[in-house]
Amino acid sequence: MEHFVEANLKTVKQQMELACQASGRQIEDVKLLLATKTVPLEKLQMAIQAGETLFGENKAQELRGKFPLMQQFNQIEWHFIGHLQTNKVKDVVKYVTLIHSVDRLKLGQALHHQLVKENKTMDVLVQINTSYEESKFGAPPEMAVELVEQLSQFETLNVKGLMTIGKLNATNDETRHCFRLLKCIQTQIREKNLPRVQMDILSMGMSGDYKVAIEEGATIIRVGTSVFGQRYLPDSYYWNEHAQQDD
Ligand SMILES: *Cc1c(COP(=O)(O)O)cnc(C)c1O
Repeated sequence: MEHFVEANLKTVKQQMELACQASGRQIEDVKLLLATKTVPLEKLQMAIQAGETLFGENKAQELRGKFPLMQQFNQIEWHFIGHLQTNKVKDVVKYVTLIHSVDRLKLGQALHHQLVKENKTMDVLVQINTSYEESKFGAPPEMAVELVEQLSQFETLNVKGLMTIGKLNATNDETRHCFRLLKCIQTQIREKNLPRVQMDILSMGMSGDYKVAIEEGATIIRVGTSVFGQRYLPDSYYWNEHAQQDD
């Protein structure tokens, strides 16, 4: 029997198809990342059974808990999508293939420092606060070019693109504006031709706005609630008040 995670996944994929058709894009060009904060392992396994392979965590601690149990499955890939404190860098670079949330030079430095020690490189996205909401992490759009220039000096970091969280509880036009701004910054940065900077990935769109994000060029959408159901912790737990600011 089909379980609810599988049914939800089907619905999301149909919507993805429709958004691609509406904007003349290919479905292969949009990846679905499942946001797994607070989601118990049983639900993750349902998603894996349904063929999903790309997962994103917000906190180093939850990642550390889930990673060993998930490793038994082949081809699972983890990305880090939450606010990253510099003292958690060591943990996170062990588990993930892409960090979506590099939003300040100090974090870039901490990553570089750790990666040099481990003789490794890491793919990263630069998170931009396109909605200018105070509750959100992310570099201000005006700082984006400068930040990417600074990050491009670290030879352990490959900047693969940009990430944003669209304005929440907003009209479609307001969220669309956020996504267009991200696309615009992508173009600006591309023109600079910086070393190790590629700008092919746009990580944008969540349960409430992924269709608009796809229409505006998202290459990764990050979906939690629409697949796994409501979370028992409010997002503020992950996005601000309780997140420790270390710099
Ligand atoms: C929780 C979260 C998502 C997914 O949000 P939903 O609304 O549940 O789809 C996407 N991106 C980030 C950074 C998140 O923290």
